[in-house]
Amino acid sequence: MSATDQTTRTWHERALLTTPAGVHSNARLIGRETVFTHGTGPWLFDTAGERHLDYMIGRGPAFLGHAPQQILDAVMQACSAGLTLGGSTTLEIEAAELALSVIPWADRIRFNSSGTEAVQSALRLARAATGRPMIVQFIGQYHGWIDNVSLVPTVDGGAAPATGGQSPTSGQHTLLLPWNDIAAVDAAFAEHGSNIAAVITEPVSIFESVAPLPGYLAHLRSITNTHGSVLIFDEVVTGFRLAPGTAAAIVGVEPDIAVYAKAMGSGWPVAAVAGREVFFDGVDTDRVRLSGTYNANTAAVAAVRATVMATADGELHRSTNRWGTGLMRALESAAAAQGVHVRCEGYPTAFWLTFEGVDSPTSHHLAETLGTLLREERVIQYHHTWLPTTTHDDEALEVTIAAFGRALKRLTAAV
Ligand code: PLP
Repeated sequence: MSATDQTTRTWHERALLTTPAGVHSNARLIGRETVFTHGTGPWLFDTAGERHLDYMIGRGPAFLGHAPQQILDAVMQACSAGLTLGGSTTLEIEAAELALSVIPWADRIRFNSSGTEAVQSALRLARAATGRPMIVQFIGQYHGWIDNVSLVPTVDGGAAPATGGQSPTSGQHTLLLPWNDIAAVDAAFAEHGSNIAAVITEPVSIFESVAPLPGYLAHLRSITNTHGSVLIFDEVVTGFRLAPGTAAAIVGVEPDIAVYAKAMGSGWPVAAVAGREVFFDGVDTDRVRLSGTYNANTAAVAAVRATVMATADGELHRSTNRWGTGLMRALESAAAAQGVHVRCEGYPTAFWLTFEGVDSPTSHHLAETLGTLLREERVIQYHHTWLPTTTHDDEALEVTIAAFGRALKRLTAAV
């Protein structure tokens, strides 16, 4: 490409010349025309010099805001000692100790590089521990893009590949059930109990905007115990966001194994599978193999170590909970002032809007449309989920409420 082409084309047009849809993940298809130059705190800046207020926050990782100084310092300092040393390091041992200090129900951890990988680690551990093939998974919950978890329900109650290019047998070992439906779980265990290795679930389905019904997670805990199956929590979004470390105490149920990513590294790519020691049996002898060239690389474990050191005392979560609660109430009041009744549900560090007086799919659709309008106001959400950070402040609140008021007016004028 000539220099002239580079100056007459937009950055997105340039991206299209090298990259399908101009983005490197299909989760980024929405909003793909905007190309960012940098982020700081709760703000993102684009190539036109416009500032966007960010509640998508990398789709979860940047709980400490973009470019958090203490994480940058720790990563840069650690990197000077080498990036991937290929053996055990002092830093990874400290990071594992610190991570487990905020996941008190677990006593073993292995680091990976993405949530997708950590989920696969968890499924392998569960199958190894039980000697069984089947996994119970829930419709609509995302556990990464690999074939065996990328599934949609079929009309006959089976599980089919969610996208082109997957193996036709992607769902052969999966029972794909509706979430929050105790009867469906009971029926699955009644028929297949002795073959079920694990139930994998998010403790709160943040991007699907659904909280567990009272007693649901406790039921999953007791039925997996009864049948000798493993309960896996996918805490890729909830972990280190709803609380420092595990969200198990918040939902009142402890799993056997859980996976973490996103906020655990404050934006640096890192993930982990953690669990009780018995579920890692055989990993030490290579009978059960968990590998990865980049597992526990220097920058990743430095980011984990620095994240836990910054957040473990709970103060940043407490102050962000206060700020998030203020935002939830302010959004409800701003809507009420326009005669629209909405409720903010979820948690102050991860919540969503529900429109009252309409059925759930309509509310979902309205919230998604409002999210699109907010993006035009340069307030960015992901799947209409609001993810406040420790860096959202009074200015952010003011900008949000003003943009929300304008977007809601356009929404109500359009419906
Ligand atoms: N699990 C959940 C609940 C997620 O939300 C995601 C990604 O959004 C994943 C797993 C996959 O993580 P990653 O994108 O790091 O592979």
